[in-house]
Amino acid sequence: QQGDPVEAPAFLAASYACQRNTPQPGHNTLLTAALSVLAESAELNGDEGRGLAFRRSEGLLRSLDRRVQGLAELRGLPCLGDHSRRVIQDLLENGVSSEVEETKSSPRYKAMKLLTGIFGVGVKTAKRWFTEGICSLAQLETSGHSLNAAQQAGLKYYTDLNQPVSREEADAVSVMVEGVVHSVLPGARVTLAGGFRRGKMSGHDVDFLITHPDEGKEEGLIHKIIACLESRGLLLYQQNTRNTYRESAKGAGRPSSSMDRFERCFSIFKLTNDSSPEDTRRAQQDPERVRVEADQTGSGGRPWRAVRVDLVVSPISQFAFALLGWTGSKLFERETRRWAVRERSMSLSSHALYDRNQERYLRASSEEEIFAHLGLEYVSPTGRNA
Ligand code: ATP
Ligand code: MN
Ligand code: MN
Repeated sequence: QQGDPVEAPAFLAASYACQRNTPQPGHNTLLTAALSVLAESAELNGDEGRGLAFRRSEGLLRSLDRRVQGLAELRGLPCLGDHSRRVIQDLLENGVSSEVEETKSSPRYKAMKLLTGIFGVGVKTAKRWFTEGICSLAQLETSGHSLNAAQQAGLKYYTDLNQPVSREEADAVSVMVEGVVHSVLPGARVTLAGGFRRGKMSGHDVDFLITHPDEGKEEGLIHKIIACLESRGLLLYQQNTRNTYRESAKGAGRPSSSMDRFERCFSIFKLTNDSSPEDTRRAQQDPERVRVEADQTGSGGRPWRAVRVDLVVSPISQFAFALLGWTGSKLFERETRRWAVRERSMSLSSHALYDRNQERYLRASSEEEIFAHLGLEYVSPTGRNA
C-alpha cells in the first residue's frame, strides 16, 4: 500500500458498524442522504437484503471523519458495494444521482412513503393499498377501508406526527413522563433512549426506558403509568403490551427474535404549546390547568400538538441490555447482533446475552460490560449513529 495518498485508519476499515464511532450528523450528508433514499426504497419494496446493503454503505460513510471529495479516497473501505460506489461517483462528479432523483419522484416511492408515514401502517398494508390505487390520504379516507385504532389515530394526527420532534419538545415530554412515573412508583428511574440519547437534535418520536432498582417493583407498572397519564389528559392514543418474556423464556431458553417482549406502550402524547420543560414542570403541580388548556381544540391554531412517545419497562436485571437495544440506531443494533452471532457465537437481545459455546447467559449491569463480553471496544451512545 506504499504510495497510497490516503490510507484508511484501522477503525474505518472495520466492517461492522458496532466497531466504529459514528457521530451525528457526519461529514458526508449529501452522500448518506442519497444512500438512505435507496435503502428506504428497497425496504419499501420489501427487499430487506438490498436495503441492508445500502444501509451498511450509508453507515460506513457516516463514520468517516472528513468529507469525501473523490472516489479514490474510498479505496479499501469495507461495506461499499459496486452499486453504492456508482451512486457516490455520480454524486461527487455531478452533484446529483439520477437513480436517486428518479427514485424520489417515482409514484410508488412517494405513495409508499406517504402511506407508511401513517402511524400503525407497515409496508405490507401500504403495499396492498398502493396496489389498489391508493396514493393519497384523501383516497384512503374515501376508500372505505376499515382502519384499526392505531391507524385511525395515525391518520387523525398525520401532520403533527410527520413534523419532527425537537430536542426542546423531547425535554418537555421527559418532564411529563418523569412526573407521572415518580408519582405512581417513587424510586423508579426514567432514562431517555432512542435517537435523543444518541445526541440527535430531532426525532420521529421520544423513547423512554423505565426501571426500578428493586427487581419486581416494575411489574405491571405500565398500566399505572397509562392510568395516570390518562387522568391528567396527556394521552391521545395508547397501545400497550404486557411483558411476555418470563413465560416464553422458560421453554425456549435463549433469545432469538429482534422484537423484544417488555411491558411497553406505543403512544401519542398531547403536548401543549407552552410545554417548555419549565412550564411543564409547573403544570405537573397543577394538572387541572393542563386539562383545561388541552381541551381547547381549535383547528390549526390549537394550543397543543401530538407527539409519538414509546415507553418501555424493564426489570433492573435486564436494564443494560434494554438500554443498549433501545438506544439504536437500528443499523447499530443489527450490526451488534450480527457481530455477536458470527464473531462470538453469542446471541444478543434487548433482554440478555447468551454464550452458545459456554451454554450460559452472561450478566451485565452496564452497557460497558456488554461491549466487553462481546469483545468490542465501547462505543458511547453519541457514537452509535450508524
Ligand atoms: P427516531 O429519531 O426516528 O425516533 P430512533 O433511533 O429513536 O430514531 P426508533 O424507531 O424510535 O428510532 O427506535 C429506537 C430504538 O428502539 C431502535 O434501536 C430500535 O431498534 C428499537 N426498537 C424500536 N421498536 C422496537 C420494537 N418493537 N422492539 C424492539 N426494539 C425496538
Ligand atoms: Mn425514537
Ligand atoms: Mn421509538
